[in-house]
Amino acid sequence: MDCIFCKIINGDIPSYTLYEDDDVKVFLDINPSSNGHMLIIPKNHTLDFDSIDRKTLNKIMDVASIMKKMVEDKLNPQGITFVQNNGSAQEVKHYHLHLIPVYENKKQKTVEEVFEILKK
Ligand code: AMP
Ligand code: ZN
Repeated sequence: MDCIFCKIINGDIPSYTLYEDDDVKVFLDINPSSNGHMLIIPKNHTLDFDSIDRKTLNKIMDVASIMKKMVEDKLNPQGITFVQNNGSAQEVKHYHLHLIPVYENKKQKTVEEVFEILKK
């Protein structure tokens, strides 16, 4: 299947991986809206909000909670926004939950710099 996120899961495409277990993977967005913008995805290919099963969605939410706390500790954002696009709004056709930190003072770091901070 020609899915870029499945290729990331298989290791065919590199990613700045922050978390991984049997069901879920988390990596930094390559074109971030803010420092620490990350994507939380199921390892099984699933399209969107309508097709993802509740059990997997619960796991995504558990991981989202862990990642939210981690980002708050390490990057000190003033807020966190979650986004999940569907239909024509969805560019990559593999379910993903965006976790987007919000800052009052925007000083954009590179993805590599943010990765170093979050992996410590
Ligand atoms: P969406 O519009 O919700 O489908 O957003 C897809 C997101 O995936 C965008 O924010 C892209 O920057 C991000 N993205 C696309 N390719 C990659 C990649 N290889 N590694 C990390 N993020 C990616
Ligand atoms: Zn996929």
